[in-house]
Amino acid sequence: FLRVADVSKWYGDEQVLEDVSFEMDRGDVTVLIGPSGSGKSTMLRCVNRLAEAQEGSILLDGEEVLSPDLDVDDLRREVGMVFQGFNLFAHLSARGNVALGPRRVLGLSDADAGERAEEQLDRVGLADQLDSYPAELSGGQKQRVGIARALAMEPKLMLFDEPTSALDPELIGEVLEVMHGLVDEGMTMLVVTHEMSFAREVADEVVFLDEGRVVERGPPDQLFERPDEERTGRFLERIA
Ligand code: ATP
Ligand code: MG
Repeated sequence: FLRVADVSKWYGDEQVLEDVSFEMDRGDVTVLIGPSGSGKSTMLRCVNRLAEAQEGSILLDGEEVLSPDLDVDDLRREVGMVFQGFNLFAHLSARGNVALGPRRVLGLSDADAGERAEEQLDRVGLADQLDSYPAELSGGQKQRVGIARALAMEPKLMLFDEPTSALDPELIGEVLEVMHGLVDEGMTMLVVTHEMSFAREVADEVVFLDEGRVVERGPPDQLFERPDEERTGRFLERIA
């Protein structure tokens, strides 16, 4: 469903991704881990073309994402992304934030977009906060609005870049719970996170990146309990 093959990327002279390869089936959850600066965010951003990979191939549902002919707007409609920061519009309510994409990008009427926003906010447990503005919401609630906003476009793949790392510890659980729910619904998810318990519970595969390269990848029990590579073990010890 998603096939990343030998992807390389440079910023100027600095190579930040080197021959990165991994594959996902529909409904899979893949977790990317690795030290700061290892290229995790860059890899995610290449998948929705927020960053341009110079070499390699990224096939999504049989389509070459890196093709110059690809319609990037279409791609971003199909690939939802959730960031560390929430990037909500302060002047729009939760409903307004979630309805914006369906209205502007998908061309839904105000009423239909509003209805879709309500459904998605209900899905993330915020049916009671439809009219709240970002300033009135906790970090965990804001991030759930961010997830609802991505879901409202009905993406076939969701990218998460450290969705809980800006949150106070007591708010992390509610966001992970929503993500667990998406896993149960069969959403295909590529997730950068330091939440190893989440990775352990839901990942089909964990990919360990270091200095832009895939050092090792495998099912979570194998990678966490019996890593093949010394570097993986050292990284896991450091973050444990
Ligand atoms: P973190 O855990 O800190 O989020 P990361 O694994 O997500 O790190 P990236 O943000 O992908 O790492 O960065 C990989 C490398 O690319 C780093 O050396 C970073 O400085 C560099 N880099 C990232 N974005 C840019 C950019 N827009 N221009 C130049 N260099 C960049
Ligand atoms: Mg990052």
